[in-house]
Amino acid sequence: MAEHNNRLMAARDLQMWFPVRRWGFIPAGAVRAVDGVSFELRRGEAVAVVGESGCGKSTLARTLLAIHTPTGGRITFEGRDMEQFTSREMRWYRRRVGYVQQDPYGALPPFMNVHRILREPLIVNGVRDRQEQEERIRDGLREVRLVPVEDFLDKFPHMLSGGQQQRLVIARAIILNPGLLIADEPVSMLDASVRVEILKLLRRIQDAHNLGVCYITHDLSTVRYFSHRIMVMYAGKLVEKAPVGGLLDDPCHPYTRALLRAIPDPEPENARTYRPVPGGEPPSLMNPPSGCRFHPRCEYAIAGLCEVEEPPHFVPRADHEVACWLFREE
Ligand code: SF4
Repeated sequence: MAEHNNRLMAARDLQMWFPVRRWGFIPAGAVRAVDGVSFELRRGEAVAVVGESGCGKSTLARTLLAIHTPTGGRITFEGRDMEQFTSREMRWYRRRVGYVQQDPYGALPPFMNVHRILREPLIVNGVRDRQEQEERIRDGLREVRLVPVEDFLDKFPHMLSGGQQQRLVIARAIILNPGLLIADEPVSMLDASVRVEILKLLRRIQDAHNLGVCYITHDLSTVRYFSHRIMVMYAGKLVEKAPVGGLLDDPCHPYTRALLRAIPDPEPENARTYRPVPGGEPPSLMNPPSGCRFHPRCEYAIAGLCEVEEPPHFVPRADHEVACWLFREE
């Protein structure tokens, strides 16, 4: 019961397919960007969704943000079914879910100064009291360490560094006190020198507000900084889900193992341990491989099984799921 009450969001068999039409009108299949994804996110929990580019992570983020309407499955948030939301509930949901985009400069309106960028969501969401607005704007800036606050209020986005722009995006995302933050590759466009700072900032904010965080990244080397659990996505499907330690120290799925081997080691003497994920690129999401979608790239594929049958999720250890036939019980 406590576990149930602790649940912030749940997705069941979530599906986001984009129809494709030839000549603009002849149905020609669908891009299956998210295809049968199920997971739960608890209050105060940070979950990283990892995988190569083109595996459906960003579409999953945009579906959770209600930017896309799912073509199948269910999302519940704080016990309410998103499909049943009235327009009023949808406005409530958009207040409860903050969004940190990949490209901070593109996410910020260039013609607004910092004060106006932070005031806008307050006005739109009914915070009319001028004093309360000013307090929340200043608290938000202090929280993301854009201090002294007075030095930043009148600045426009182009006057800020990339790291400061992303801090401002984070301040805007939390100014309405959300319960969930969705961060889509929040540091991938920043200089290496500020990436760790921004991840530590997100971690601090997450702890301070007991926020649920869904952290989308292609970079497994960053997930230890603030994730409690990891979900590995491949070709529109979740292939492994586990607590961060268990997954990074003892990964099960061949794709997860390949992703971990593909992390460059900063020590030059270890550079030879680096091996890219075999088999080139992830498959087309319009024509994914039959059976296990990883089978054309998998060095352990079982002939006559992996290319035919899609593996269900097996549970090799407590709280650790993997969709791979290697873990089937005999
Ligand atoms: Fe490899 Fe088969 Fe496991 Fe897929 S199910 S990852 S092809 S061993």
